[in-house]
Amino acid sequence: MEKNNRRDFLKKATAATAVAATATTIGAPAIVRAEKTYNWKMVTTWPPHFPLLGEGADKLAESIKVMSGGRLNIQVYGGGELVPPLQAFDAVSQGMVQMGHGAAYYWAGKAPATQFFAAVPFGLNAQGMNAWLYTGGGMELWNEVYGKFNLKPLPAGNTGVQMGGWFNREIKSLDDFKGLKMRIPGLGGKVLAKAGGTAVLSPGGELYTNLERGVIDATEWVGPYNDYKMGFYKVAKYYYYPGWHEPGTVLESFVNKDAYESLPKDLQAIVTNATVAANMWTLCESETKNNIYLDKMVKEEGVLLKKFPADVVKQLRKYSVEVLEEIVANDPMSKKVYDSFSKFQKQQQAWSKISERAYYELFD
Ligand code: CA
Repeated sequence: MEKNNRRDFLKKATAATAVAATATTIGAPAIVRAEKTYNWKMVTTWPPHFPLLGEGADKLAESIKVMSGGRLNIQVYGGGELVPPLQAFDAVSQGMVQMGHGAAYYWAGKAPATQFFAAVPFGLNAQGMNAWLYTGGGMELWNEVYGKFNLKPLPAGNTGVQMGGWFNREIKSLDDFKGLKMRIPGLGGKVLAKAGGTAVLSPGGELYTNLERGVIDATEWVGPYNDYKMGFYKVAKYYYYPGWHEPGTVLESFVNKDAYESLPKDLQAIVTNATVAANMWTLCESETKNNIYLDKMVKEEGVLLKKFPADVVKQLRKYSVEVLEEIVANDPMSKKVYDSFSKFQKQQQAWSKISERAYYELFD
C-alpha cells in the first residue's frame, strides 16, 4: 500500500477497526489451515422438527455447525426417517450414526439405571436435575451407565415440571385410578399399575384418536405448549396438575464414543458446550410457551384445570417409593445411581424449602 493511500485509509478508519484492518491488509500472509471436516448424522426419537423436542435437536446441530465454522456438520433425522424412534440408542451405540437425541427412560430395556437420568416420579425438578448432573455427581454415573454401550451422554434439554395429564374421568380418590387406561410411560406407568390402572403404550401420533374413541381414558404428554399442539383439549375434559411422574424431564443427546474421541479437542468442547446451550434453550422455551398456551387453553378453549387431591398424591408417592425400591433391589447399577440421586434430593429439599419454596409461598 502506498504511503498516501495508507494515510487516507487510516484517516477513514475508526480507531477500533484500524487495528483489525491493517492487520489483514498489511499483516502476515493468510494462514491456510488444512482442517478436516466431519459430517455426522443425528437420529432422534421425535417426529421431525417436533415443537420443543425436535426443535431442540435442530438447534443443537445448527449451533455446532456455526461454532465449528462448518467443520462439524450434523444432519438431523426425525424418528423413523433413518431408523425407528426407539432404535436411536442402538444406531449410535453400534456406530451406524454418530449422534442421537431422545430421553433416557426410553432405554430402560437396555439398562434399568437409564431411567434415573430422564425422570423419576416425585424426584428432582429441572433445577435439581441440572445441579445433580452437572455438579452433583450425576454425570459421572450417567457416563458409567452409557459407557457400557460405547456412548457418551450429554444433557441437552429439560421440559420443566410436566402436567399430570388429560382425563375423561374426574379423579376424586385413588379408586378412580382403578381400571383407568392411561398412556403414561416409564416409572410413572408402573406407579399407575400399583394404583390399579393400566399403563398403555401408545405412539404419540395415535394418542388423540385413542383418547377420542375411548381406547384410553387418559393420557399424559408434556406441558401446555406441546399438549395444545396435540389438540387434547378437544377430546378430554379435565387437565390435571402437577406432573408428579415427570417433575423435570431431561432430554438427552448421546454420542458414539469412538466418534467423539476422533474429534480434535476444540470440536469436542463445541459439542459439549452446545448441548449445555441447548439444555438452557429448551427449558426457557418450555417456560415461555407453557405460560402462553396454558392461558390460551383456559381462556379460549374452556379447559378445566384440576389439581390432584392431596390424599391421592400421598398414596401415589408411596407407590413410587415401592416401584423404585423394586428396581434397585434387582439391579446394582440402579442402586448406585439411585443412592446418589436420593441423597442429592434430600439435600436439595432442605435447601429449597427455605429458598425456592419459601419464595413461591410469598405469593400464596
Ligand atoms: Ca410426559
